[in-house]
Amino acid sequence: MSEIRSGIEEALDTLPKEYKEVLAADHEQLEAAEAAGKSSESSERHENHPASETGKDSDDHESTAATAPIDPTQKLVALTFDDGPSMYTEEILELLTSNDSRATFFMVGYNIEKHPERVKLVLDAGCEVANHTSGHKDLSDISRSAIESEVYDNERLLNEAGAEGRLLLRPPYGLTNDTVKEVVKRPMINWSVDSRDWKTKDAASTVAEVKKNVRDGRVVLMHDIYKSTVEAVKELIPWLKSEGYRLVTVSELYEARGEELKDGHVYRYTYSAEEYEKDITERKKS
Ligand SMILES: [Zn+2]
Repeated sequence: MSEIRSGIEEALDTLPKEYKEVLAADHEQLEAAEAAGKSSESSERHENHPASETGKDSDDHESTAATAPIDPTQKLVALTFDDGPSMYTEEILELLTSNDSRATFFMVGYNIEKHPERVKLVLDAGCEVANHTSGHKDLSDISRSAIESEVYDNERLLNEAGAEGRLLLRPPYGLTNDTVKEVVKRPMINWSVDSRDWKTKDAASTVAEVKKNVRDGRVVLMHDIYKSTVEAVKELIPWLKSEGYRLVTVSELYEARGEELKDGHVYRYTYSAEEYEKDITERKKS
């Protein structure tokens, strides 16, 4: 199987250290925006369909496009949103549900603590909640016990907020080492397409970056803490659908293509439909 995939070019799956400074500044900006948005937010949000309501609606139907069985021969892509939840998460959820689409949200502890109810909104929209550690520290640079608390304390926090069971982990900055792989008894999910939304904070650039690099079976990195990312998603979801992609969660993506996610391993993309079918044929031959 790995031989078939060896043809795929090496993709960048760590973020430059530069992101550390960027994120600290972004975090302060987000806090200010959340505080400023609080008064107008409640009245504004009620006019829209809350994601949870849309989710309830879909239960009444036999099976919507989002819940229908996934055809592994269809083009699949997993959008992922890191560093939230934030005041922008709900808008992204509305865009996903109204397009019969799903995504995965890798949440960080300090933002979950502020708004644990947002975890439930993501789940109600049929999306996947995953772990992005308590404090967004570089796991390759801290002690074993610190890694454990960063990962498992945050998983516990997410469990308490309603996301049950063992959760996928995205290590901050995509950084791991042998110790991290040994200590973290969870599959670790990096990415194969960096939208660079964190760097450009520009919707048009974010859209262009994804359009240029997206392929069947890829995992796309974005952040639900920027207004520009919401704008980008508004254009990207319909475009991806028009290109024949179905937008699925990370777990759905790997399951559909028959790749088992193993604890302590790092992943960033899976088989394309073509590779998947070729592999099935080879397996039958042997
Ligand atoms: Zn992050």
